[in-house]
Amino acid sequence: MTIVWLRRDLRLFDNAALYYALQQNTNVQPIFIFDKTILDKLTNKDDARITFIHNALQALQQQLISNGSSLRVFYDTPHNVFAQLATEQVTAVYTNHDYEPYAHERDGAIATLLAQHHIKFNTYKDHVIFEKNEVTKDDGTAYTVFTPYANKWKKTITDYYLKAYPTEKYFGNFIQQQPIALLSLANIGFDKSTITLPSVSWNESLIRNYSAQRDFPAIAGTSKLSVHLRFGTVSIRQLARLATPLSVTWLNELIWRDFYAMILYHFPHSATKAVKPAYDRILWRNNEAEFAAWCSGNTGYPIVDAGMRELNATGFMHNRVRMITASFLTKHLLIDWRWGERYFAEKLLDFDLSSNVGGWQWAAGSGCDAAPYFRVFSPDAQTKKFDAKLTYIKKWIPEVEQVFKYPKPIVDHKFARERVLATYKIALTQVE
Ligand code: FAD
Repeated sequence: MTIVWLRRDLRLFDNAALYYALQQNTNVQPIFIFDKTILDKLTNKDDARITFIHNALQALQQQLISNGSSLRVFYDTPHNVFAQLATEQVTAVYTNHDYEPYAHERDGAIATLLAQHHIKFNTYKDHVIFEKNEVTKDDGTAYTVFTPYANKWKKTITDYYLKAYPTEKYFGNFIQQQPIALLSLANIGFDKSTITLPSVSWNESLIRNYSAQRDFPAIAGTSKLSVHLRFGTVSIRQLARLATPLSVTWLNELIWRDFYAMILYHFPHSATKAVKPAYDRILWRNNEAEFAAWCSGNTGYPIVDAGMRELNATGFMHNRVRMITASFLTKHLLIDWRWGERYFAEKLLDFDLSSNVGGWQWAAGSGCDAAPYFRVFSPDAQTKKFDAKLTYIKKWIPEVEQVFKYPKPIVDHKFARERVLATYKIALTQVE
């Protein structure tokens, strides 16, 4: 038997590891592991991401059943699952690369375990167009600045990198068996989330108009495909093929995703430490009451509060507003970017360590190619530019104009701006 271990690639079409497994073998068994190591850390038992995964597994199961096969789903640690599978005449395991530090460590341990049982472990690029060392400077080192990286990315891209893996040709090689019942959400200790999950859909006009519309949170001008990219219910190759003729701006966003995945791979410490070390000297204020006000959307800055309320209610926040809320937390409130990063990690449906850390370090000024530290977004100026009619704000804060119902600003903008500039200056001018 050959195992295909699905992780963040929950689809049967255009899937690299699945393609090679089916092309090279018969009796191919797809599996998914609800990893106890990850799930035990989730305190919210109706976490919408678990519902999303569960829905995706049900869809996969239907497709496998119509091909005479079935998914096998486990709830355990990957180590225990593979120790069990190693006793079942498995000859090879196929899977797609995952670049996060935990995944890297996990896969190393699984490779060792499988080698002890003489089982091959074959891994493939699937989640990104170009991975770790495929787009580098001419001397082979990693780029740390986006624009030259994106230019090289565009020079390197050919149809070869965008072509789909035609898995369907080999669906006859799935192991033939009766359907195996999937674990329910209750079996793994979770409840069904009430959050509405974005559907996987797009249209050409949205992508064509992306550049003009993407910055206005009141307009449905972005694709909302991030959760699908996160769990692989769409293929990045499919989207990059779509982007190329329609919108360079949208293609650039997909390139940012490759860029941040590459950065996290080369600089794994960036998950918890400033990419520019001097920024770890900043004396954050870390006021817990102010952090709570930010989390719940009660800072008295409507654009910030609307964003946080959108996040809390839907698991999504518009990119422009992610930039504003992250800037506000780090600069206006002088709260450590890691606090905000962890809050987003808990709430975002599309939470992806590389893009989230990248976004937060960008806002704090500490990351690769980050916003300069002296750029302090003015929430009011951002509102005038991107939500002038307050449409987005009023959607999330209907009481915004009622003086007694909506809080006063938590801090004065001008005062906060001067305070952050002085604080950053002290940290950044200290002698090494
Ligand atoms: P679209 O605008 O339609 O873009 C298409 C796709 O391109 C997105 O789905 C996403 O995969 C990718 N993309 C777009 N912008 C970026 C970007 N700046 N960096 C990397 N990839 C991008 N994105 C995540 O996927 N997960 C996160 O955890 C995450 N955290 C963020 C935290 C902060 C503080 C900031 C400023 C940004 C963060 N982003 C994150 C990036 C971006 O906000 C989201 O990808 C985007 O809002 C998702 O909406 P969409 O699918 O409609 O994107």
